[in-house]
Amino acid sequence: MRNKYLPFLVILLIFLLSSSAKVVAEFTSPRIPILVGTVPPLATPVGTSAPTANPFSEIELAKYILNTTIDYDAHALTVSEDIYYPNDSADPLDRLVLAVVPNLWEGTFNLTSLSVDGTAVTTFSLNGQRLEITLPAALQPNAIVKINIEYILNLPFAEQEDPNISRPRIFGYTTRQMNLTNWYPFVVPYINGEWVLHEPWVYGEHLVYDAADYEVNLNFTNPASAPTVAASGFPEKIDNYTRYTINAARTFAISASREFQVSTLQAGDVTISSYYFSPSEAAGQAALQTSAESIKVYGEHFGPYPHKSLAVVMGDFNDGMEYSGFYYLSRDFYSLYDGTPTNYLTFVAAHETAHQWWFDQVANDQALQPWVDETLSTYSEYIYYETIYPDLTSWWWRYRIDFYKPQGLVDISIYEGNGFRPYTNAAYFQGARFMEELRRRIGDEAFFAFLQDYFAKGRGRIVTANEFFRVLGQHTSADYSDLVKKYFKNTY
Ligand SMILES: [Zn+2]
Repeated sequence: MRNKYLPFLVILLIFLLSSSAKVVAEFTSPRIPILVGTVPPLATPVGTSAPTANPFSEIELAKYILNTTIDYDAHALTVSEDIYYPNDSADPLDRLVLAVVPNLWEGTFNLTSLSVDGTAVTTFSLNGQRLEITLPAALQPNAIVKINIEYILNLPFAEQEDPNISRPRIFGYTTRQMNLTNWYPFVVPYINGEWVLHEPWVYGEHLVYDAADYEVNLNFTNPASAPTVAASGFPEKIDNYTRYTINAARTFAISASREFQVSTLQAGDVTISSYYFSPSEAAGQAALQTSAESIKVYGEHFGPYPHKSLAVVMGDFNDGMEYSGFYYLSRDFYSLYDGTPTNYLTFVAAHETAHQWWFDQVANDQALQPWVDETLSTYSEYIYYETIYPDLTSWWWRYRIDFYKPQGLVDISIYEGNGFRPYTNAAYFQGARFMEELRRRIGDEAFFAFLQDYFAKGRGRIVTANEFFRVLGQHTSADYSDLVKKYFKNTY
């Protein structure tokens, strides 16, 4: 199948470093040059004059500070981004590799300045989605480097293509919504001496994320007509901007619209907010309720939900999609909602909420081993129905899985799927069948003890299929090798 991104991947854009372009002057912190390997000073927060605390005394995760001004009507953003990146590998790093996904759209990503530890650098290349920065000095293990990137994003119109062929277009704007997903440069994982940045594909997700801490300071050029904002982080109003924070997250998403209606629900200490368009009030409430129930069900079966908030957002495209503390549901699910739990809105809400465990907390290589989060999130739908609507479990198998007569081996990469439907049939639906057969083989007690242990061991990390099976093997003496042979192309 043709890769629609190919034309963009071969475009090498050359950027002029401009020291005069202070695109977000109101957010610009004083530049304090720091040495590689020292603990950096806290970037001066917007609207305050002095550092308040040092968050890096026990740094393990990268920290992203995104000072962002949105011109909503112009579909444009100006961003000053600070990345504090700790080298938690055993290798000295002479360069960093970042994903700049907006650069897959011509004219969207416009770099205005790039600095390392306060000094402007020209030793970088930006080729398609890949930004490679050669560091002035090697970053030693356990040392931290500060990268500052300033840029303007001119968002593309999110034109929707045939959903049977390609993934939905999320990033960009529609007539009533701005969707910021994978909108900022981020350092890709460095695993076993390799920077993990795969090529995009027409369906499935290709990005792999380290867990990181995020602070997004957001304001609008025209505050009087600012839209309603849904975001990955927990909001805090400070002067003329809003600060959103989320820790140990994989990615930070934002959706904005002047037409959003909002309903919120408190589930324990988690604030769940549902953002939807009129006349989808009933469906917006149902998505909220399913999310709250799912957080409870998965909290009991797998482990705790880690964030203070969850945003459930009606998207102007045809699919659901997960981000940290945030997920989208297609507008189509809202319009088809019939007031009952036997529909796409409910099971996809349960699915996307499950990704907060299988993706956000326990991450995996979404391109090469997509089943590792998709199989678990699909089977989590079943656990949701089993717990909340036990009378509907056979309906779920029939309507959600068997209807498609799924075939294929579960452990394919996104590049091997041979089309969207065969891909999801294998990685999602055959995966769910495998989980059910496995559960019957080893029994409920071992099955859920395994899931809890796998969650606990994988939390905050990027796991592999081998680790899934290694933990499984620690929880049962039953022979399930025939199931592995039936459902998987590799041996585990
Ligand atoms: Zn999924």
